[in-house]
Amino acid sequence: MLRPVLFSCILRHANVPGPMKRMMKGGQFNMVVCTLASSSSGNCTVVSHGATHILIDAGISLRRIKDGLRFFGLAPDDISCVFITHDHTDHIGGVAMLVKYFKTPLFTSFGTADGVFGVFPETEPYINCFETGAEFGFGDLTASSFPTPHDSNGSVGFTFRAGGSKLVYATDLGYVSTEVLEASLGADIAVIEANHDRDRLRNGPYPAYIKRRILSEYGHLGNTDSGDLAARLAASGSHYIQLSHLSRENNTPELAREAVNKAFIACGLAPGKDAVLDVAPPYTPGRVYDL
Ligand SMILES: [Zn+2]
Ligand SMILES: [Zn+2]
Repeated sequence: MLRPVLFSCILRHANVPGPMKRMMKGGQFNMVVCTLASSSSGNCTVVSHGATHILIDAGISLRRIKDGLRFFGLAPDDISCVFITHDHTDHIGGVAMLVKYFKTPLFTSFGTADGVFGVFPETEPYINCFETGAEFGFGDLTASSFPTPHDSNGSVGFTFRAGGSKLVYATDLGYVSTEVLEASLGADIAVIEANHDRDRLRNGPYPAYIKRRILSEYGHLGNTDSGDLAARLAASGSHYIQLSHLSRENNTPELAREAVNKAFIACGLAPGKDAVLDVAPPYTPGRVYDL
């Protein structure tokens, strides 16, 4: 039986690794955000503030997590916890190894906890459940979650606030729900899904039932909808928008960018000026956002 927990600060690591020291400005730490992997085949993002380093999802192998963290001068033992969006393999594939070798705490909604426990029962002692929407302090970060429309029980996205900056992480979205939009507006950096080009998906090799699933309200966000969301976020003051979770078969970075640029122009926004747009690479660390 999974148990709810009180959220106390978990500061396991007082030392700030070398490269992170460069992220200090005026004696204050900034929030630093970087995807380590982002695609339909594996997702993992590191968020740091001061001595607190957390992962959003761990859907890649431990070896790849180690390689990605090394880029920052970090190791898995520096990670305070993993916040998990939902229980699909591309988001939880690496959690069992993290727990086994590093005893990394996992933070999930109650629904996702059931899913993670079902796949990796050995992670049960390390699963900490939160009520979706509850806000809590975690080290130097304030974290909150919001429900996402996806075919996974308890699926959520996250917002993190630190040092006056806000990150929203919203992937695996069948559509942009009111909850997703409200949580995302005003984020300084928005990591949002741009999963597929609709025509490419429709005309591609996937079986019909998978196409239906991806296109459904509990599937994945296509480039056009992602562009509309990006434009709304840019209009709300977002400085950086990173398109993520691209499908290798049904999308390209160029198609995703093109859709967002179109949406910007339709809204009277200037691509690259009203917000900086980037596409998260699928298998390697992406741009480092130092907020
Ligand atoms: Zn996914
Ligand atoms: Zn998913």
